[in-house]
Amino acid sequence: MIKIYDTKTRSKREFVPVEPGKVGMYVCGPTVYNYIHIGNARTFISFDTIRRYLTWRGFEVTFVQNVTDVDDKIITKAAEEDRTAAEVAKEYTDAFIADMHAAGVQDPDIRPKATEEIDTMINLVQKLIDKGHAYAVDGDVYFAVRSYSDYGALSNRNVDEMESGHRELRADGQGLEDRKRDPLDFALWKAAKPGEPSWESPWGQGRPGWHIECSAMSEKYLKLPFDIHGGGADLCFPHHENERAQSEAAFDTTFANYWMHGGMLQINSEKMSKSLGNFLLLRDILETTDPAVLRMLMLQTHYRSPLDFSDARLKESAAALERLENFVTNTLWLAKKPTGDGSDLASKVETLVDQLKESFTESMDDDFNTAGALGAIFNFVGEVNTLTADAQVSAADAKALTDAAQAVVELMDVLGISIEVKDATDATATVLDDAESAAEMMVLAMEFAGFSPGDGADPSTVKAAMAALLDARANARAAKNYAVADAIRDGLNEIGFRIEDTPQGARIVKA
Ligand code: AMP
Ligand code: ZN
Repeated sequence: MIKIYDTKTRSKREFVPVEPGKVGMYVCGPTVYNYIHIGNARTFISFDTIRRYLTWRGFEVTFVQNVTDVDDKIITKAAEEDRTAAEVAKEYTDAFIADMHAAGVQDPDIRPKATEEIDTMINLVQKLIDKGHAYAVDGDVYFAVRSYSDYGALSNRNVDEMESGHRELRADGQGLEDRKRDPLDFALWKAAKPGEPSWESPWGQGRPGWHIECSAMSEKYLKLPFDIHGGGADLCFPHHENERAQSEAAFDTTFANYWMHGGMLQINSEKMSKSLGNFLLLRDILETTDPAVLRMLMLQTHYRSPLDFSDARLKESAAALERLENFVTNTLWLAKKPTGDGSDLASKVETLVDQLKESFTESMDDDFNTAGALGAIFNFVGEVNTLTADAQVSAADAKALTDAAQAVVELMDVLGISIEVKDATDATATVLDDAESAAEMMVLAMEFAGFSPGDGADPSTVKAAMAALLDARANARAAKNYAVADAIRDGLNEIGFRIEDTPQGARIVKA
């Protein structure tokens, strides 16, 4: 049973989809006036992981995410740069999609753009006017907040307290628009100012407000009620409160059954903001960081908790990922190279694999506890390593060991992290692919290492050269001749290979 923490009821509830076996999910997309920062990325990665998990659990997920490509911020940026708003929006929409791909976030099934759905929004605004929930004033249209009795229920606010807040604002004369009947009312449609992008409407030239976009698009592409509505915690009020009011007032039905809000990302425990100068763009981070490492960092914190981003945490995450990669590589290597005959390793490993899948699922079913799921994987790796460290691996154990490595690869893939499998044979195969030049280089490496190819092994084939090099190194080490051992290692590094020590002995892989 999957449980989801629902912001509206402030409780974890059993997930029961509207249609058995299917999930409709809407996650608010970006406003495209800049490159996305790693805070945005955190929210998108969280919901990408949730979507992947639900899919793995057998649900047919329809994931909708809008792009807000008309907005005050875009218009301001366009004016500053002497470009059209459409040019600015196009540039940053393309950049957003490219950044999401670079971060390993799957495309939504439907990605509607505000500017391509103007009619849908106009129809919804008209419907709200017709039903007495909205009114037009001089080309603007406002939603009458008090016409929807459940306003505030999502973000747990009291309408009367909100209003007194606004009255205070009014007293010192800030931010009050006299056209509104009530200070709480918000714009559904904005009359165009000269030079702004605008569309024809029953209320004159204008453009849609931000909130109406998600109400119009979710109803069009998912129908109401849909299952999961998501976004960062900062969107809960007013954006989601307003979306909900508009949709429920217009369609007389529940809008979304589960409201999910992700915690904010902070940098070195401080709020990320332009004024603090600690504003990090996703694309800048990905220039120097493997996306799998970034995701590992993100998923080690529960999606609802604040997440602290720092270089130290990136380093830890890189080490954690490497630990998993080494586990998979070494376990597959062990499976291919039995060292003994007969042990009870297989049944023990198989039990651990079953337990891993169970506890991974248990964690993820519990409001997508990725930190718990990763914990289960790391425990498993530790336990299997302990078992294999002292055991004689027999040919009969090979399947269980392969399953163990594959379980880690599969479950990490569910979380959106693909583990690079450096299979032992594949490593050799890659070397053998470049056989001719590699053979020559091996000989050079051996000479570089002061090891004459004539001694012992015949270096005319790469395999033999590799074996000879490894033997030479082992002999040098046994004789405590570290200069020669290191020279062999360095010589190999120089030509793009490295020696990896495994429980089964050393081998040469591509660096
Ligand atoms: P925006 O373009 O500002 O609407 O943001 C797009 C998404 O990123 C929304 O779901 C926001 O809630 C989310 N978001 C913005 N800042 C942060 C942050 N610092 N940490 C996590 N999510 C954020
Ligand atoms: Zn939205």
